[in-house]
Amino acid sequence: MAEKATKTVVIGAGPVGALAALYAANRGHDVEVYELRGDLRDPSTTPLNFTKSINLALSERGINAMRKANHPKLLDAVLAETLPMYGRMIHGENHGELFETSQEYDVYGRSIRAVDRAGLNKRLLDDLERMPNVKFFFNHKLTGADFKKRKAWMEKRPKNQRTDHAQNPTQGASGHETEGRATEIEVSFDFMIGCDGAHSAVRYHLMKFARMSYQQEYIDTLWCEFQIGPSASGEFQLSPNHLHIWPGGDLMFIAIPSLDKSFTCTLFMPAEKFTSLDNNPANVLAFFNDSFPGVAGKLIPEPELQRQYSENPHLPLISIKCTPYHFGSSVIILGDAAHAMVPFYGQGMNAGLEDVRVLFEFLDREKDGVEGRAKALQAYTDQRTPDAAAINDLALRNYREMRSDVRSPLYRARKWLEER
Ligand code: FAD
Repeated sequence: MAEKATKTVVIGAGPVGALAALYAANRGHDVEVYELRGDLRDPSTTPLNFTKSINLALSERGINAMRKANHPKLLDAVLAETLPMYGRMIHGENHGELFETSQEYDVYGRSIRAVDRAGLNKRLLDDLERMPNVKFFFNHKLTGADFKKRKAWMEKRPKNQRTDHAQNPTQGASGHETEGRATEIEVSFDFMIGCDGAHSAVRYHLMKFARMSYQQEYIDTLWCEFQIGPSASGEFQLSPNHLHIWPGGDLMFIAIPSLDKSFTCTLFMPAEKFTSLDNNPANVLAFFNDSFPGVAGKLIPEPELQRQYSENPHLPLISIKCTPYHFGSSVIILGDAAHAMVPFYGQGMNAGLEDVRVLFEFLDREKDGVEGRAKALQAYTDQRTPDAAAINDLALRNYREMRSDVRSPLYRARKWLEER
């Protein structure tokens, strides 16, 4: 008699959940993907973010994880919708003159890539949809789990139910019911992969089974998104092959290019400075002129900048470390659910995609079944805990580098010495 396929339930259809489902489906598992929101490819679905989609830096860590998914067209399709960024462009003002300085990332000319998060996520879902052994359950929210009995409970929500994004759209908003009636369903599984973001429900329930150490920190910085549109002639207003930085000491403004020749920008600033500007909105333009010369009026029309500042949300940044990531052979958490990090190293999603590759390498080394999987999950936790903590710390460290060190003479002198 043929052996029964492993039933793998993936919670969260963000980039990490979608890739994890693809890896599991490739290995012949019966895969079910449960996602709190609607299908993001459906135009009626509330978008993950509030304005346009956020742009991320995709690096070799994430690219390699997609390469190893063994879907050759997937990586081609993703890369075709990216722009290479060969370095960072530092913007400033000297004696009233605007200047920009390019700092290349790599002596061999290699690049990181600007990618639209939603676009990347859609490509992964498209590939997943073509697999006969994958079922999607959108508008399903995990509300409970018993990892000894291998059962989970999902709230099936009416389509188009609004999701509360108040916490942070890219950090796994938990969502709540606002209208209509939700029903509960019970799901049994052999293996659960929790990829439900920073406010992970899987992690919350895992804590009741595993002796998990857990640490979370909100840094004293908020972020707000802006857009630099194309020029009047429809061209990029800045170099499309750089990540642009306006360092400001304890704050910074960055811009990442998009395929439509606009830039998605982010202002990172201490919470109390946001509060001070919120209380004095008339000061926003003067603040921009002072802190990020050349942005207000030149790259973003002044009324537009004022509007974006007041309408776009000011969101928190969380950093999470925990361990173990698994319980027995029944569950593992990956991506932001396991190690949400501040975005300054551009590695949150990349590290999450890498989690998937590393996990399946460990699973491939063991025999299928409960015993082999338990060994693989333990080996994964052992290896991944220090690695994830290191990336997490580097991300925090890189905030100082980006907002301040990139412009200091001391930094340049140190770099000059290092290169000799
Ligand atoms: P998420 O993207 O949070 O996806 C989780 C999914 O789970 C969501 O679809 C959610 O709806 C669903 N979900 C949540 N709860 C439940 C539930 N109870 N039941 C079912 N489903 C649920 N990373 C980079 O690599 N490079 C960058 O340049 C970069 N820049 C960033 C800039 C900013 C401003 C921010 C905030 C983050 C940035 N990141 C970057 C980090 C990146 O966005 C995250 O690391 C990445 O989105 C994590 O992916 P994920 O799939 O683990 O979680």
